[in-house]
Amino acid sequence: MSPGPVILTGPSGVGKGTVVSALAALHPEVWVSVSATTRPPRPGERPGRSYHFCSEAEFDRLIAQDQLLEWATVHGQARYGTPAQPVQQALAEGRVVLLELDLAGARSAKARLPQAQSIFLAPPSWEELVRRLSGRGTESPDQQARRLETARAELARADQFDVVLVNQEVDETVAALVKCLGLTCGPTGQDQK
Ligand code: 5GP
Repeated sequence: MSPGPVILTGPSGVGKGTVVSALAALHPEVWVSVSATTRPPRPGERPGRSYHFCSEAEFDRLIAQDQLLEWATVHGQARYGTPAQPVQQALAEGRVVLLELDLAGARSAKARLPQAQSIFLAPPSWEELVRRLSGRGTESPDQQARRLETARAELARADQFDVVLVNQEVDETVAALVKCLGLTCGPTGQDQK
């Protein structure tokens, strides 16, 4: 059986995006899935790079045509899903494949690809999660409150995942992730921690 993807999940605000960007900069050979979403782009987000931004009708079509490996409504607001074909192709090419998903998506992806390794990114503390989520300024106070409510329930489920990493310092988390992904050398050949 070919190795499955690595699924990175964790509550909103824990720093999944920052960790994935740092990992991708250090290891450009890692193939990071680009999700489809019905949420509108934020300033600076590029279609096809950050997400494939879709209308509700386009997303319905992706589901109807069974083109998504998994999908979920996140924070009761927008739908997000992983296009299946590019993931299957990258796995067939022997690439290291990384999916960054919410918890519901992580569970469905693991059910569909049991050989996947699931990693839960946890905050050092609840207070730190609240601080990070309110500090990034991308959500309204109402959205922050909703995301924190979801996060509380999600933290209680950390033990359902194969590995739990506490995201204290981004560099340390990336080094731990590199080990989980089986990447022992950087692109220039130097050993990672
Ligand atoms: P944001 O709107 O902040 O970019 O992402 C919100 C949440 O959606 C994050 O927790 C992120 O992990 C999750 N997410 C992003 N892409 C996908 C996807 O393809 N499927 C699922 N289930 N969740 C996703």
